[in-house]
Amino acid sequence: MSTRAGIVVTGTEVLTGRVRDRNGPWLSDRLRELGVDLAHITICGDRPQDMEAQLRFLADQGVGLIVTSGGLGPTADDITLEVVARFAGRPLALDGALEGRIADILESLTRRWRKLDFEAVRAANRKQALVPEGATIIEPAGTAPGMIVPPMDGSGPTVVVLPGPPRELHAMWEQAMATDAFRAAVEGATAYRQEMLRLFGIPESEIAVTLHGAQERIAGFEELEITTCLRRGEVEVVVRHEPSGEAAWKELKAFIAERHSATLFSTDGSTVDRQVADLLVRRGWKVATAESCTGGLMGARLTEPPGASAYVAGGAVAYANEAKVALLGVPAQLIEVCGAVSPQVAEAMAAGALERVPADVAIAITGVAGPGGGSEDKPVGTVCWCALDADGTTIARTTEMPGDRDEIRDRSTTVGMHLLRRLLRGEERPVW
Ligand code: ATP
Ligand code: MG
Repeated sequence: MSTRAGIVVTGTEVLTGRVRDRNGPWLSDRLRELGVDLAHITICGDRPQDMEAQLRFLADQGVGLIVTSGGLGPTADDITLEVVARFAGRPLALDGALEGRIADILESLTRRWRKLDFEAVRAANRKQALVPEGATIIEPAGTAPGMIVPPMDGSGPTVVVLPGPPRELHAMWEQAMATDAFRAAVEGATAYRQEMLRLFGIPESEIAVTLHGAQERIAGFEELEITTCLRRGEVEVVVRHEPSGEAAWKELKAFIAERHSATLFSTDGSTVDRQVADLLVRRGWKVATAESCTGGLMGARLTEPPGASAYVAGGAVAYANEAKVALLGVPAQLIEVCGAVSPQVAEAMAAGALERVPADVAIAITGVAGPGGGSEDKPVGTVCWCALDADGTTIARTTEMPGDRDEIRDRSTTVGMHLLRRLLRGEERPVW
């Protein structure tokens, strides 16, 4: 049995959604890398009873490790350590040496604000030098130290207490992992492997049918923990297994590859963005964009991977019809006859971008992202794409997408990516 763990994310700002939780997902990845089986992530505000209730809940689930984030600052609403100490039954005591180290950090920080009363700051931070009896100190990356608090009688969970600011939490996690107290808590962790398959142009339900079939055919299928999710219009199949499940995973991968050869595009975790970037680099090509309803999102997505200047030339966002004419040379008459959202205009936009931008391939998107603006024959969600290369090869597509404005715009960029991928791979006709 592997060590099970829980994460308690604290902070009223996170609970209310004002700040998006970045620590829970980050810690989740780190625990997985260590082979620790994460059972729960809970979120609570800065209230001692709620925090304590979550610690108790996780202890009742039998977890061996709890990681907390946030609430280590000097102010009155920073209560995590006090709660954890009470939970573990370990009284807090002032650590004089730690207080001195915090004072040194503060002194260098407060030198910039000359008017600050250093003694007042120091008094407020004395609280941060309180250490639960028997805890291991994690030196601060900001001003707040973290702690590793072992269970009192050796039976409950070890609690790793980390600060909220993600940069500090990341830095201190490395230190925490290196301590004996941490190692003791994760002893017996199993090396889990996590694999990912990505498919595009297939409904999630079809994968469900395939998985059902696999269950009956593949020996050791029950060793695989499989989750599927829809993300940005793609289906992701995540498979987690212990080393003994390797053979079953390989069989499953082959089974899915055989059944969904046309839609399975990634078996090594690579994203379509990465694949398009690699294909462009391999060919030494640059890409141009011509966008209407996506307002530059396609260009932004293409430039996301580091080093994008090697393969992204640039492009135009032409929202208004006049801009399509002026910036991309789309004939005004074509827009009048076919409509701004039409395969013809998409192709003219791509051609216009290729003529004006020094690039080898262009992707154009024009559509109705709504709300409003649709018509009977072109309702909200109608989008036309055209990928075109300098040889005149095109891959085009027109479809009606469900969803709200954000979803339509976001998924439009995913389709754009897949059209580019197909064009760059020399696969002419999309199967979807
Ligand atoms: P500080 O000494 O900075 O107060 P702290 O450990 O008390 O450190 P918090 O008060 O909980 O941390 O959070 C400080 C800030 O860090 C928050 O206002 C927020 O901007 C950021 N932060 C905290 N928790 C998270 C989280 N889970 N995800 C992303 N950002 C967070
Ligand atoms: Mg705080």
